[in-house]
Amino acid sequence: MDNRFRGIIGITAIIISIFFGGCKNKQPAPADEVTAIINAKIFDGENVIDDTTVVIKDGIIQSVGGEIPEGAVIIDAAGKTLMPGLIDSHTHTDVDGLKDALKFGVTTELAMNGRTTKSERKQVAEQNDIADMRSPEMAVTAPGGHPTQYQNSILIKALRWLTAYPPKETKEAETKFVNKQIAAGADYIKIIIEEGAFVGYPGLPVLNDESLTAAVEAAHAKDKLAIAHITTAESAQRAAAAGVDGLAHMFFDNPQTREVIDDIASSNMFVIPTLTAANSIFGNSGEVIASDERVSSKLSEEWLASLSDSMNIYPEGDLGVVFANVKALHDAGVDILAGTDVSEAGEGYGGLAHGASMHHELQLLAAAGLRPIEALRAATSVPAKRFGLNDRGRIAAGLRADLLLLDGDPLVNLSDTLNISAVWRGGVQLTAKK
Ligand SMILES: [Zn+2]
Repeated sequence: MDNRFRGIIGITAIIISIFFGGCKNKQPAPADEVTAIINAKIFDGENVIDDTTVVIKDGIIQSVGGEIPEGAVIIDAAGKTLMPGLIDSHTHTDVDGLKDALKFGVTTELAMNGRTTKSERKQVAEQNDIADMRSPEMAVTAPGGHPTQYQNSILIKALRWLTAYPPKETKEAETKFVNKQIAAGADYIKIIIEEGAFVGYPGLPVLNDESLTAAVEAAHAKDKLAIAHITTAESAQRAAAAGVDGLAHMFFDNPQTREVIDDIASSNMFVIPTLTAANSIFGNSGEVIASDERVSSKLSEEWLASLSDSMNIYPEGDLGVVFANVKALHDAGVDILAGTDVSEAGEGYGGLAHGASMHHELQLLAAAGLRPIEALRAATSVPAKRFGLNDRGRIAAGLRADLLLLDGDPLVNLSDTLNISAVWRGGVQLTAKK
């Protein structure tokens, strides 16, 4: 479960922006070319619709079910399913991660902690071979709280505290910290309420109620969502009481009473269960997905090795219990959003890979009891609606042409999401390469 600070992101961004800055003109331009995808079964992000034609122009879905314009490039999608690009609602990412994500049809990653430089934002907005991204900048946490335990250099720790984290837990300090993130470009605010057991550091300092409420209020004062990292039922209830808008994880502890489910449902919070993360935290690897040729053909050896590993932080955890709670939340009307908590490759971060794990997450949501169409909504229209991403997550005229074309029918056989035939980001079709 990575919430580490990613200084390397900026460096990678600069290097890659220099590289791609030189090749920008070689990328396929959306230009004035018109593309018509015909004969497709269409899942529009909410439902399967009767129309079978989508026309794309200038990066935008021009029409659904309309006439095919003269001169349009025709893509015959007979036997295929067209759906909105996937949105991974919990990642820790960089340019390489965004590149892998797009190969798997993830057209938007929602980051959940970490600085994003201006040049990186520009790059994400303009570069067509990486997924789009939104970010909360740095997360609010208690002094010494998660994820500062990953900073084992005292000097770095001291610097982080001085420059990034509020030195004290006061209303003023939290408000100032939140406003600083918004000024730096935060799209939403992330707040960490973590006791430590599920991140491998039991007994971490936890944000107090005054700070929690202050952070939520500061986010709302600037019309930003407040998203809370929680891993226990108690923290989920504290988040609900504080007016948080959504949970960035599921509670991974014991079987829960009706009361917890009801508290979350009545708060109108959404939940990003991150079942792939739970799977890995409980000691199960991502081997089942890594060994799939449709995955292994798209990932580097490093990422495949990492995906085949697991975090194994809390082997006594019971995935069946987590599944039952996800189903209970869903049945209670809580919006469930698909997110993975994928971060980087390597020891301590195993079981997850950008893009690939979204397909695993969909399968785990189905294992928890969601129907295929409900799992697909959790990765498209539901996160778009809850995060206010009104230009995507559905197939409708006027929206961004973030599209995924699949062989087969994921509404019948959910793992068909991995049968990727084509991916468009903002109307530009990704040219397949490893
Ligand atoms: Zn995370």
